[in-house]
Amino acid sequence: MNSKCVQYIVSIEQHKAHYFEVCLLIDDPDPGGQQVALPAWIPGSYMIRDFSRNIVEIHASANGYSVPLSKLDKQTWCAAPVDSRLEINYRVYAWDLSVRSAYLDQTRGFFNGTSVFLRVVGKEALPHFVSLPKPDTEQIRNWKVATALIPDEIDEKGWGGYVADDYQHLIDCPVELSDFQSVTFAVVNRPHRFIVSGRADFDQTRIHTDLSKICAHHAEFFGDLPVNSYLFITQVVAEGYGGLEHRDSTVLLCSREDLPRRNLSKTTEAYRRLLGLCSHEYFHLWNVKRIRPETLASSDLATEAYTELLWAFEGITSYYDDLALLRCGCIETSEYLELVAHTITRVMRGPARKIQSVAESSFDAWTKFYKQDENAPNAVVSYYAKGMLSALGLDMLIRQITAETRSLDDLMRLLWQRYGKLGIGVPEYGIEQLCDELTGRDCSDFFASYVHGTVDLPLHDWFQSLGIGFRLRPAQTAKDKGGAIEHPDNVFSKPWLGATFIQSGDFVKIQNVFDGGAAQASGLAPGDKVIALDGLQVTAENLFDRISRLDLNHTVEILALRRDEIMRFDFRPEPAQADTCELWWIPEAQCTEAQLTRRNNWLQL
Ligand code: ZN
Repeated sequence: MNSKCVQYIVSIEQHKAHYFEVCLLIDDPDPGGQQVALPAWIPGSYMIRDFSRNIVEIHASANGYSVPLSKLDKQTWCAAPVDSRLEINYRVYAWDLSVRSAYLDQTRGFFNGTSVFLRVVGKEALPHFVSLPKPDTEQIRNWKVATALIPDEIDEKGWGGYVADDYQHLIDCPVELSDFQSVTFAVVNRPHRFIVSGRADFDQTRIHTDLSKICAHHAEFFGDLPVNSYLFITQVVAEGYGGLEHRDSTVLLCSREDLPRRNLSKTTEAYRRLLGLCSHEYFHLWNVKRIRPETLASSDLATEAYTELLWAFEGITSYYDDLALLRCGCIETSEYLELVAHTITRVMRGPARKIQSVAESSFDAWTKFYKQDENAPNAVVSYYAKGMLSALGLDMLIRQITAETRSLDDLMRLLWQRYGKLGIGVPEYGIEQLCDELTGRDCSDFFASYVHGTVDLPLHDWFQSLGIGFRLRPAQTAKDKGGAIEHPDNVFSKPWLGATFIQSGDFVKIQNVFDGGAAQASGLAPGDKVIALDGLQVTAENLFDRISRLDLNHTVEILALRRDEIMRFDFRPEPAQADTCELWWIPEAQCTEAQLTRRNNWLQL
């Protein structure tokens, strides 16, 4: 072991109280007083989370004597100068089942380094050692360890010592401690593991087959697999969804039904969603973990780090996650168009797309995208969903300028060669410059309109160039997410409320009120509990239908509770907006040569 090292010993004996007990040993502390600090946020999730609030007790010592520890700010401490090894002991409360922090009980232990490992200021570049002693408690003695940290000296279940190259590496390797199930497979001869914790019975062979294909596809796409091994840490719950990318691993949260049942003949929507999530996080291994925005790469995680590029890191990743499922044969062409139609519908239903660009949404992620309230559809555009559509447009632009010889695939490979592979951060205008270079043309109009601007995306033209039919129609039912409908020729415009709603007890609770819609014009507000429409009680089940049958020129009364006050609203129905997308493959016989060429190049089937 390196004599001038930083070492953490993490104990889970207090699992029933949900405390990780950490002993931090610093061999050669700063002679002027050693500072230690915990990050305020975790890379990949752009919100200040103040992980230090979960440190419930902390003290320092050296040679068996207590050392004064003063607190400098919400997340930084400074130990008085000592001339020998400094020991800092602290407890971390861990009761968050999300992918972003830490969790510990008698069923499972999990932590991200950002929740548990204090940064030893000034020693970030040193190798960091972690020791995970096997628990004494009988009940959890059969647990195993899974992490992308480099094993130093471990037993067959993974208990023992690990090492990380530096602090950045350390906090990018989450750790799972439980009696998890494990599916192993190889990609480009590198071991990959998909582990599942939580009660789940699923078809391991199916996971093996599909993930092997998806991961191999991405590795071939970039022409380079920059990991020696990779780990999917999956926590299964009754209902949940989410993922967080790391350098050599990812943490996923999914619903029990998302995992493939045994003898599953058809890919269910739930399983397709899980595959899309795996594909998304694995693509991040290149795009955002290694091809990284300059400002994020240089952040010490103490305060916000601003970039306008999240549309590229999340949007382009969202573009390729499902496209890869299609290209590697995990989903059908018709299923793929349904998924894209759903994304377009989500974007079209948010008035925010007219006032906030995806670049602005990226920059303001900290206070807007990650802190969405009831007004979010009017104020916040998703850099995921609209970013995905911008990526599609960029792909079509590159194909058009280069007469089908180049595509967004090439731009991603160029980003990998110029930045990711060399460990250089991407400057804010790096992608635009590379796009000009790849196409030999000034592409600034595209970025000004669709990335930095709010010009409506010419989706019809982009899809037309691929031989894909596109139209927008009003929603036909309350649950219409977009996509094909049973009677496409029978679409008509019905009145709509101009708000989203759910059943809440005996009332219909208004969730979001859209700017410029009929509900807003009548004075209805988020949180209002609608009791009756035109004198008759309503339910979330029948409200869409009741409104759709109203006469457009006839005002009706809505009765609702705002807090404890009954209020009356004059509601004048308006025609529903054409905000619901339908896409379809134009039969080959009706396509031009150019459409078929682009379609085939794009699909790569
Ligand atoms: Zn992502």
